Amino acid sequence: MLRAIWLLILLAVGVWAALFLRQMGGTVEISVGSTFIGIPVWLGLLVLVVGFVVLHGILSAWKSIRGWPARLRARRAERHRRDGDAAVTRALVALAAGTPDQARLEIRRARGLLGDTPHTLLLTAEAERMAGRNDAANEAFRALAARDDGKFLGLRGLLRDAMQREDWPAAQRLAREAEAAQPGAAWVKEERAALALRTRDWREALALSPPGQLSGHRRAALALSAALQEPEPAKAAALEKEALSADPGFAPAALAVARRQTAEGSPRRAKTTLQTAWTVAPHPDLAAAYLGEEADALARVKAAEALTHDNRAHPESRLVLGRTALAAGLTGRARAELEGLVSSGTADRRAYLAMVDMDAVELGDSAVGRAAEAKWLRAAAAAPPEPRWQCLSCGTGHSAWEPLCEACGTPGRIEWTGAASAKAEKGAVTAAG
Ligand SMILES: [Zn+2]
Repeated sequence: MLRAIWLLILLAVGVWAALFLRQMGGTVEISVGSTFIGIPVWLGLLVLVVGFVVLHGILSAWKSIRGWPARLRARRAERHRRDGDAAVTRALVALAAGTPDQARLEIRRARGLLGDTPHTLLLTAEAERMAGRNDAANEAFRALAARDDGKFLGLRGLLRDAMQREDWPAAQRLAREAEAAQPGAAWVKEERAALALRTRDWREALALSPPGQLSGHRRAALALSAALQEPEPAKAAALEKEALSADPGFAPAALAVARRQTAEGSPRRAKTTLQTAWTVAPHPDLAAAYLGEEADALARVKAAEALTHDNRAHPESRLVLGRTALAAGLTGRARAELEGLVSSGTADRRAYLAMVDMDAVELGDSAVGRAAEAKWLRAAAAAPPEPRWQCLSCGTGHSAWEPLCEACGTPGRIEWTGAASAKAEKGAVTAAG
């Protein structure tokens, strides 16, 4: 609208100027040599304007003709990109739907239209992998890894494949390259930690796991595993302490720390370490280490009392007190502990077998003694089994804690399992559900 008004004003000014010039009269004279041309001023101006318009039109037409092939090419590229994008979308849908053959068809079309871009290469690799053609997938990943913009994506795919093939040296090399391509990437860190676990490099696995990610117990197990691998005593000692502070109730860590303290000439500190661990989580190995050097039966009772002082009511405390008292001939004391334990309902098989021993000492080889023995043996058979080290992954029992279950190869799954812990686990599941 505004433009039309301006044009109208311009036109009016032009007409007015033409009329004005016509009224004014006058001529434009051009003389070339002896030739002489004279035209009125208004006609001269008209010729100039028309000449300008015609020249402008010719130049515009020429420019348009010259740009024709480029415009054609741009239009074709635009069409290719549109069709290529549509093929990529269809390929993604096919991948999501789990139809790799359809996806491969669409990606081949997209690659023909768009060329080898990070998107098309990545989709090619994923579709080939889904179709079970790992060689073709790796070829695409390698092409991706050779590019600057797709290097990390390519390395990631190759690393995943190497880990699946359990080719650990190749996986470690690829993980290092991926770390260099994308420093600090969380995914690489996780993969390197998983790799360290698979290659049993516990120290590396511990270093790579961020502080908040592992549970205290898991961290303790890893730190103790690393300590077992560490040749330098000072570093091993630090790792053992790290394990114990991560999980103060982890008996193997407490035992390792106490053993080192004894070796360094501080048996009192070692005893304090074992006592503290017992207060958090009693374990028969702690009692065995604590009572180990006491040869005298009465001294063993005293030592058991000292060990269990701060966790007196725990079934494991009562069992160790009952057994040491029985061994020292303090049958009254032993009976009080063991009967209390049996009637509490938290006793496992060991308590009933201790009752058998006690009745054998007290009643001897008599009819009453034999009847009592039969009664306790029946109760022992029905009682929950004693706790033990067990792989939670495959269920294999182990005589001691180990970093890795040799039966199934799973690291960090050997746990102290028994009636109490099974009950606690069940309770936790019920509470969670
Ligand atoms: Zn196992």
